[in-house]
Amino acid sequence: MTGSKPADWLKTGGSSIWPPYARLGAEALPVVSASGVRLTLADGSELIDGVANWWSACHGHAHPAIRAAVSAQLERLPHVMFAGLAHEPAYRLAQRLTALVPSDFSRVFFTESGSVSVEVGLKIALQYWMIAGRPDKRRFLSFRGGYHGDTLATMALCDPEEGMHAMFQGVFTPALLADLPQDARSEAALDGLLSTHAHELAAVIVEPLVQGAGGMRMYAPQTLQVLRRLCDRHGVLLIFDEIFTGFGRTGTMFAFEQAGAAPDILCLSKALSGGTLPLAATLARRPIAEAFASDHPAAVLMHGPTYMANALACAAANASLDLFEREPRLEQAARIGAQLAAELEPCRGLPGVVGVRVMGAIGVVQLDQDADGLRGRFPPLGVWIRPFRDIVYLTPPLVIGEADLSRLTSAIVQVVKAWSEGRS
Ligand code: PLP
Repeated sequence: MTGSKPADWLKTGGSSIWPPYARLGAEALPVVSASGVRLTLADGSELIDGVANWWSACHGHAHPAIRAAVSAQLERLPHVMFAGLAHEPAYRLAQRLTALVPSDFSRVFFTESGSVSVEVGLKIALQYWMIAGRPDKRRFLSFRGGYHGDTLATMALCDPEEGMHAMFQGVFTPALLADLPQDARSEAALDGLLSTHAHELAAVIVEPLVQGAGGMRMYAPQTLQVLRRLCDRHGVLLIFDEIFTGFGRTGTMFAFEQAGAAPDILCLSKALSGGTLPLAATLARRPIAEAFASDHPAAVLMHGPTYMANALACAAANASLDLFEREPRLEQAARIGAQLAAELEPCRGLPGVVGVRVMGAIGVVQLDQDADGLRGRFPPLGVWIRPFRDIVYLTPPLVIGEADLSRLTSAIVQVVKAWSEGRS
């Protein structure tokens, strides 16, 4: 630590910081280092991390292999503009991703955040239809409970009622909104909607298997098969937003593997770099990418952020993929899932608890009211758990050990029980 004491920087800097999703001056805990599943605070105390950097730090914090790769890259080339210049970490990563992701994905566009990777996916869809002589196909369809980012175009895809962007209604044209097709009635309704709007629809976008920020709502893989079938029937592209679910979180490397139904365009971020540096990727299947091998004016993808394909982030991502190859992350996710299911079970049936659900390394206790008010109860128990909306949830690093995970689950059981008793 250099310069002023941590308590000083927190206080003095706090009047300059604009915090996310919070009022000015909102309190934050001062983290001075992190390692494995532990965050160390300025007073020397430790928190076991149940959130993993907003669901991204799959290998834990400061993994030595990622640190080494980033340090080596920092010595050589931290960053270089990506137009007209190339570097090995990005080219190697693109090739590895096209080989790793099931189906015939053939092109990768790198950006620096999940939201922007979704925006790029939208542009690919729009330009694809322009090249195909269908510039009228320029609308999108998304689902109730969905979340795809905070930028203006991605907000238009979020659930307008329940998403955190309700206040911006009217600022942009919202996407067509549908219920996820989970039964014959909703499938028929979506079929009808697609049939009415196919002439103007560029793509359907969905989070496969789990709608994350919408409240960790889980659904069956068959729904993705229905979406694939309906999009094919109506000539609409399908985008899977695996920004949250990608890289093992649902128990398979990519959630859509469980459905055996691939999208046309895929968005990845978060755990792509092991949760260490900002990086995102938008992948297109071969038929989509090949349409861009044309001299049509729209065959030049109109995007190119300054920090795209940052070399440090790509080095981190390559090291993260090495770890997935070397270490049993998917087995770890399965073990976490079994432990979450067993240890969160005592919450089920408590007054005020609507349900307990688990998928892969995601465990959720849903309450019958807002859970934000419980946030302050967790750090004193030595854990970092951050309820939102009506859920208290865990998405720990996939490397977490049994004892540490039990500390997290028992904290949830303790807090939820006390809350449940206190409400009556
Ligand atoms: N899409 C999904 C499914 C997400 O969960 C998120 C972030 O939580 C995003 C998009 C936006 O990613 P970012 O916060 O990196 O812009």
